[in-house]
Amino acid sequence: MSWVAVDGVLVPRERATVSVYDRGFLYGDSIFETLRTYDGKLFRLEAHLSRLARSSEVTRIALPLSVEALGRELVALTSSVREMAPGGVDAPASELVLRVLVTRGGGRLGLLPEEGMSARRVTFVEPFVPPAARLYDEGAKVLCVPTHRPSDAARGAKVGNYLESLLCLFRAREVGCDEALVCDASGHVVEGTTTNVFVVRGGRLVTPPLGAGALPGITRAVTLEVAAHLGVAVEEAPLTPADVLSSDEAFLTSTLREIMPIASIDAAEGRRAFAKGPVTAALARGFRRVVAAP
Ligand code: PMP
Repeated sequence: MSWVAVDGVLVPRERATVSVYDRGFLYGDSIFETLRTYDGKLFRLEAHLSRLARSSEVTRIALPLSVEALGRELVALTSSVREMAPGGVDAPASELVLRVLVTRGGGRLGLLPEEGMSARRVTFVEPFVPPAARLYDEGAKVLCVPTHRPSDAARGAKVGNYLESLLCLFRAREVGCDEALVCDASGHVVEGTTTNVFVVRGGRLVTPPLGAGALPGITRAVTLEVAAHLGVAVEEAPLTPADVLSSDEAFLTSTLREIMPIASIDAAEGRRAFAKGPVTAALARGFRRVVAAP
């Protein structure tokens, strides 16, 4: 069962509404975070709240509550929904996904927001449905898609408008791929549409730097911690599609996917199939240890 809290008030999803004048609807004028629970607890809540605070600064969407109060609200919503789940909080498979969306608010048409407009928060709480096992057993098929993406408009912010990413994902799906790697105007691989990307080259882990325009993924950060713990050398360096194609291993990361191996990459420069790699497997095991004992 899915629930939605509009400005903190929890209702079943069918009863959740916001105004058509909301700027999230009119202009994609919103910021958001997607979190999940492990063992019923929100994973890396503080990191998600810091990123939301950063998104708020960059977009000048003032948060409607302090970050601390918002955190308490997310914890309270998680417990309320778990208690209402069939079987209650101890029921198996009761992990949840929370998406907290903050829009600038609304009132009228016109790009410039009215003075004194207050932000609206909408939190979606849904059962966590893991990605298909095939994506871990075999790995994901990805397509490199060139875009006009500048290296930045709202660097580091997680903003509501995903149109460019969506168009990349459509291109990938049309050719039977699972995810697209977004390549920017300078021809560098930045990230996936909703994932960060890593490759392994000569035993070193390489991922595009955040300065290249990648979202500072929470799972990316945990992966870097796990690599440091395992003694895997890490380099944050620009990657071209050719670099990715000539790597030994490649994988994607995100809150909902954790560490997902890449099975193949298609790009204008060529095609590469990857075998399941030992570094990816070790990092994925390390990641599971972190979530089991956060
Ligand atoms: N990049 C983009 C564009 C994303 O939307 C996401 C998903 N939030 C990620 C990377 C991965 O971030 P995280 O690990 O925080 O889920």
